[in-house]
Amino acid sequence: MTLPRMQPGDGVAWITGASSGIGEAVALELALRGWTVAITARRLDQLEEIARRADGLPGRIVAHAGDVTDPGAMKAVIETIESVHGPIALAFLNAGIAPDSNGLLDIEAFERTIAVNLVGAARGLAAVLDCMAPRRRGHIALNASIAGYGGLPGASAYGVSKAAAIHLCETLKFDCDRRGIRLQLVNPGWVDTPLTRRKDVPMPFIMSPQEAARRIADGFEQAGFEVSFPRRLSWLMKAINLLPYPAYFWLIGKAARRSGTKAI
Ligand code: NDP
Repeated sequence: MTLPRMQPGDGVAWITGASSGIGEAVALELALRGWTVAITARRLDQLEEIARRADGLPGRIVAHAGDVTDPGAMKAVIETIESVHGPIALAFLNAGIAPDSNGLLDIEAFERTIAVNLVGAARGLAAVLDCMAPRRRGHIALNASIAGYGGLPGASAYGVSKAAAIHLCETLKFDCDRRGIRLQLVNPGWVDTPLTRRKDVPMPFIMSPQEAARRIADGFEQAGFEVSFPRRLSWLMKAINLLPYPAYFWLIGKAARRSGTKAI
């Protein structure tokens, strides 16, 4: 189903987790493309500094604090954004964490990761859907990861949260289509951000946040459901996930042993 592409004149863009990394870069890229961008995260000082850096761009950035794990916060921040800056036409649900874990299955890190990457994303999704559904228009993109395509060693919390986020998007796409809302899934490969800088694992084809942001913003302007990059990594991982389990585990295990990967 082809739904109308949202333009800067249709309303505001909202980005969660925009105080650093991919969210920050997408905010500046959208402001460069003429959008008014409302950015949220927990660190308001960081957000305000990013907003100042948009001075002189065709669009502008406005900052509001918003913790995706706070049950009431997403609804409240959306109400503020819409009352002050206008209707949200484009939402990029991007907030995410990849905490270090201790032991085989660190349940504390697992719960924290699911709370931000999955439940937090779902909170933002539910709140923005409530605004867009009566208008029967809007565009929502959720940032998952290529790490959600299939089980990877050491990625029990992060991988599960991203696999579930992908599934959530696939599931909601049917209902969103019927309501005139465009739902998109963003699956990046490795991007050089504070999240990845703390990790000591091989990161093939890693790219800068600015390059990732250009590809994400280009993806927003195209019709496809999934925006995934770099293509060679995403197609390779999709192909590996089609293998029967014995071949899949052999191949991934061999690659992990060769690279010394312990945790993502
Ligand atoms: P960063 O650590 O740079 O950014 C994470 C952002 O999420 C920050 O702005 C942080 O802001 C925000 N955040 C964390 N917890 C919360 C919370 N409870 N409420 C609101 N915001 C929160 O990492 P990236 O830019 O790399 O990650 C952004 C997204 O991209 C994540 O979902 C990540 O999983 C995904 N991704 C990243 C890849 C990579 O290689 N970097 C690859 C694939 C996907 P604050 O602390 O101020 O709240």
